[in-house]
Amino acid sequence: MDFALSEEHRMVQQMVRDFAQKEVAPIIKEQDRKQEMAAFILPRMGELGILGVCFPMRYGGQGMDYIALGLVCEELEAVDSSLRVVMSVHVGLNSMGLLQWGTEEQKQRLLAPQARGEKVACFGLTESGAGSDVAAIASTARWDGDVYILNGEKMWISLATKAHHALVVARTNLKAADPHEGLSAFLVDLSLPGVTTGDIHGKLGVRAGSTGWLAFQDVRVPVENRIGEEGEGFKIAMSCLDNGRYTVGAGAVGLIRASLEASVRYAHERKAFGREIGKFQLIQQKIARMVQSYEAGRLLYLRAGWMKNQGLRNTRETSLAKWFATDASFEAASEAIQVHGAYGYSDEYEVERYLRNSKGAIIYEGTSEIHQLMQAGYALGYREDAPLRCELPAYDAEFWQAE
Ligand SMILES: Cc1cc2nc3c(=O)[nH]c(=O)nc-3n(C[C@H](O)[C@H](O)[C@H](O)COP(=O)(O)OP(=O)(O)OC[C@H]3O[C@@H](n4cnc5c(N)ncnc54)[C@H](O)[C@@H]3O)c2cc1C
Repeated sequence: MDFALSEEHRMVQQMVRDFAQKEVAPIIKEQDRKQEMAAFILPRMGELGILGVCFPMRYGGQGMDYIALGLVCEELEAVDSSLRVVMSVHVGLNSMGLLQWGTEEQKQRLLAPQARGEKVACFGLTESGAGSDVAAIASTARWDGDVYILNGEKMWISLATKAHHALVVARTNLKAADPHEGLSAFLVDLSLPGVTTGDIHGKLGVRAGSTGWLAFQDVRVPVENRIGEEGEGFKIAMSCLDNGRYTVGAGAVGLIRASLEASVRYAHERKAFGREIGKFQLIQQKIARMVQSYEAGRLLYLRAGWMKNQGLRNTRETSLAKWFATDASFEAASEAIQVHGAYGYSDEYEVERYLRNSKGAIIYEGTSEIHQLMQAGYALGYREDAPLRCELPAYDAEFWQAE
């Protein structure tokens, strides 16, 4: 067992830390207030190679492994969740789905421009009537000779108005005995006629990010943009979530770290009853708990990343990493406000934003209730993972780094 990060891991970690802390941290409060994503974020993340960090170079990526992806997410969310959300949807939920399920031709044509950051990608699963219950999806894609005709609406879609591509799951078989088996996945070009998009405002958190909706009216999606076989949409969506959840878990660890660092700083600065508040045991208890959550959450996501590198199925471990870290990040942010007293309750400090941002991650990519059902299901023997036709490829440095 080797707990050390490689030289390459440390370099990408430092590069992303510099980007997030120097370029984004100074403007993030204002963007959050304006409820707007800063225009430079996506092009800059593309330019730095962050949007393609864990993809083979032959598909436009940086040739790094899945651990590097986790480290990037931790660094981004230590500044703001909106940055990590970009990785969750563009990399985890969409591009990694193409790496796993796409044909060689699709990887060249669709994945490579995404990994290079030329095309921004999002993930369209949720609908107004289908959230946790994915099999309730009502959008349809009807086969019409040489194209699929896509109709329906997707809600709560991160980057809906910023993305060029969406991985969309729609119903292709209305008569399937099991509704899970009637779904298929498509990579939809959002510039096609019949696509409209819009933003959702008034969210509790991730206000410096972009969340919206996608609507499809008789959109003609070419057959070569169907990902996987007809009827594989549910399985594809679930394996995309295995990758998206990894990024959410790793990011939540970054939010815990930010809450811890802010609390330690303030505990040294603030005096009450003639002593700095860090000297009080009840404040120490909160800080100790943040340390515990940070270290445990980090080990859980690194294990999931290691399993991805080995090509081992990690649905169970990724779900645990995501559930643990997101719940713990909410608690850490809340306690960070408590450490800051009244000042933590205002936007003079960052911690109130951490709390608002942390709540979203307990809802998206499987609510904490869904993760509890999963963990109990595995423990009780009610649930096990069947092998997939296409597994996420194990990290192979030679293949990943060959042009
Ligand atoms: C900021 C944000 C960004 C998002 N980005 C995306 C995106 O990019 N793409 C995308 O497709 N979706 C996205 N979503 C949607 C998100 O994935 C869904 O909100 C989530 O899956 C939950 O679905 P729901 O909101 O419909 O809640 P519901 O499924 O209606 O759940 C409501 C409540 O019931 C509980 N519940 C449901 N079923 C069960 C059960 N069987 N047992 C116990 N409790 C249950 C839930 O845990 C929850 O507490 C985003 C959401 C947010 C808030």
